[in-house]
Amino acid sequence: MKIGVLSETLQGERRVALVPDVAAKLATSGFAVVVEAGAGERASFTDAAYRAVGVVVETERWALLSKVDVVLAVQPPRIEDVTMLRSGAATISFLQPATQGAVIESLAAHSVTAFSLELLPRISRSQSMDALSSQGSLAGYKAVLMAANRLGKFFPMLMTAAGTIPPARVLVLGAGVAGLQAIATARRLGAVVEAYDVRPAVKEEVKSLGATFLELALESQKGEGGYAREQSEEFLSKQREMLTERVAAADVVITTAAIPGRRAPRLVTAPMVKGMRRGSVIVDMAAETGGNCEVTQPGQVVEIDGVWIDGTTNIPSTVAFHASQLYARNVSNLLQHLICNGELKLDFKDEITKGCCVTHAGRIVNERACQMMGVTAASEVTKSEVH
Ligand code: NAD
Repeated sequence: MKIGVLSETLQGERRVALVPDVAAKLATSGFAVVVEAGAGERASFTDAAYRAVGVVVETERWALLSKVDVVLAVQPPRIEDVTMLRSGAATISFLQPATQGAVIESLAAHSVTAFSLELLPRISRSQSMDALSSQGSLAGYKAVLMAANRLGKFFPMLMTAAGTIPPARVLVLGAGVAGLQAIATARRLGAVVEAYDVRPAVKEEVKSLGATFLELALESQKGEGGYAREQSEEFLSKQREMLTERVAAADVVITTAAIPGRRAPRLVTAPMVKGMRRGSVIVDMAAETGGNCEVTQPGQVVEIDGVWIDGTTNIPSTVAFHASQLYARNVSNLLQHLICNGELKLDFKDEITKGCCVTHAGRIVNERACQMMGVTAASEVTKSEVH
């Protein structure tokens, strides 16, 4: 079986889907690995490093696409790439069903079997394949460093001959994978950290990291599968009111709140930003899905009355070396899960395969993807279509 690794084309994307270490392991398991020339360059993996572990480096993208059985990528493939794939080939990448409907339609039309890492069920068995978690964790870490870099203050408390510097106050909104890593990082840098999440279940985790969990007198709606549910506008409005004072007291606010497949909840309004001290920093990790802060500009850093609002998108890409390493392990583990005796063997009774397979045998076969795309629900894969 031939595995191809694409060079990412999205502007600002520095990651690569397979690093030499993981490629070497796949090669020893009997796979032929082909990497597009320069694919790992921006994550500090040279073509020579791939060649050294027996990987073929292909300079022509079309040649790679037309000969491989499985394509590994970070970002969704482009339609022009899909048209070059063989019918029956497979892709593993983030697919962003909510915004990439046309690509998904084209994958189905070309009978490509496509897997979306966003849709991987987050169960214990799939933890080693969970790219949302690996990338979210790196992003949570980096978001704190970005804030610390911009803040004109120290994070730790410092007693010097010239006087005592109080520690920075950091508020983390949303304590999922990224939020918990942000809390841990801010604590390691010596800040005093507060956090809030609509899921009360995270309270103990927040406390175990040395942060204070904000108890708001609010009754949140319970979600499913460990995720938060979209809260009512009335709830969000009360939440904002109750958080106003905590936001004003913070030097740094890191927002990570998200609802899968929905627009990010609005937690920080323009008046709340105005209430912050000059020099304070907000890093809005939800910038890409609409932002947790009303004044966030996706992909930009803006300054309003002396307060910085950082809407940097694709934060994992700024930690490209380790982000690629973890991502490569995630995709390689998923690939191994889908393969039996050197061939793709899809078992649609398996929760992981069914959960993240989006197109197969010329159709869109995933209900969650259909919901996100706003198209009619897919039909089940029949026995004769499984190969
Ligand atoms: P996410 O990125 O979808 O959301 C981030 C956080 O925002 C969540 O904790 C959510 O509760 C919170 N949030 C949503 N609305 C909010 C609001 N109005 N105010 C404050 N916070 C709000 O979530 P995630 O980090 O990807 O993961 C969420 C859950 O999935 C966690 O419970 C995590 O433990 C679980 N998970 C399980 C596995 C596994 O078992 N394999 C792997 C990863 C994550």
